[in-house]
Amino acid sequence: MNKKLPFIIDEHYCPNPKPTLLLHSCCAPCSSSVIEMLRERFRVTVLYYNPNIFPKSEYIKRCDEQRRFCQSFSSEDNPIAFVAADYRAEEFEHIAKGKEHLKEGGERCTACYALRLGEAARYASANGFDYFTTTLSVSPLKDAARLNAIGEKLGKVHGVKYLTSDFKKQNGYKRSCELSKEYGMYRQDFCGCKYSLAERILSAKGFIFDADGTLLDTMGFYENFASEYVRSLGFEPAPDLREQIRSHTIRECCELLKTTYAISKATDEIYDEISKMIGEFYADSSTLKSGVLEFLHYAKSKGIKMCIATATDKSHIETALESCNAEDMFDFVLTCKDVGASKREPVIYDECAKMLGLEKRDVVVFEDAHHAVVTAKAANYRVVAVREDTELKFADVIKINSDIYVETMTELIGE
Ligand code: SF4
Repeated sequence: MNKKLPFIIDEHYCPNPKPTLLLHSCCAPCSSSVIEMLRERFRVTVLYYNPNIFPKSEYIKRCDEQRRFCQSFSSEDNPIAFVAADYRAEEFEHIAKGKEHLKEGGERCTACYALRLGEAARYASANGFDYFTTTLSVSPLKDAARLNAIGEKLGKVHGVKYLTSDFKKQNGYKRSCELSKEYGMYRQDFCGCKYSLAERILSAKGFIFDADGTLLDTMGFYENFASEYVRSLGFEPAPDLREQIRSHTIRECCELLKTTYAISKATDEIYDEISKMIGEFYADSSTLKSGVLEFLHYAKSKGIKMCIATATDKSHIETALESCNAEDMFDFVLTCKDVGASKREPVIYDECAKMLGLEKRDVVVFEDAHHAVVTAKAANYRVVAVREDTELKFADVIKINSDIYVETMTELIGE
């Protein structure tokens, strides 16, 4: 490696005119110091091709940030061109098959580097670039020797010169942090793929779980209890009654039923009758969702603090946890009633984080219901959305507003 530069210029390098270089970039922050180093010696075009990034919203966010940085850093003397590939997640999924649960830095990452460098080499060759290289070596977590071996091999395959480099050298990483701050860039805290995101989630200090539909398989009951109650009083429930009460607390639901069906009983009496129905259900029929107990044991073994944030009465949840042998897993159960706010507001999550003694950035919220996912995400929590059949019609909203959507929690631990 040249002593003064973190990249090797070959013997054919000619500074006039500056040769063209295609720079594969993983993200704007990593590209910043690399572009700064390269632009004096090359006419740089940045290629954003990262089908490993998950989810698509994260891809778009990182891609937009890259475009914005190239525009702001471009000057008349040193223009920086930008090319973005479409999001082609299936290309990453194909090469990651069978390597999903390997640790970051292992074989999956080697295949991921090769995929991205392969596209950079192909594009550079097809478009007549003199050189190509990647920003990836700027990260202290990335092995430059491995990247260079892949790049050099692909350069030969596609007939284009690979610029051998280790951009973390000469304070490259430190400079990238300074430039990210100076340009107010979005800097992500996980490498990019869904497996690295799962690793990041499992490194949290606290988990806040919703109960019904997330931990407990109880939503089938909630689909029908209001209609059953109304029928027991001799009324025909509206077909959309479930939708009307979807994000209501039980008390709000009782108030709505009393008004809508002109029930002559006092709201408190309706509440008591419905609470009895619910209590019997939790005591006799509630079960944990698939994979929940394994996931809770895993989190407990890692020392992650756990609590429950629920709109349901505490006594019902405690009864259900006891009947499912999960009562010792949680530090506490906090209800919407305790905090005086529904999950349309983030109060309950903020209070849970406070009671766990943790900062918001150190906790992850697990939810199944779209309105709660939206609330937690808007309040800047990291959110794991858990599939719940009764929420499938809101799947798009849930996926856009969560960090990751899982069929079962065990997906996060590779089981
Ligand atoms: S951890 Fe990073 S380098 Fe490794 S496969 Fe995932 S995105 Fe690619």
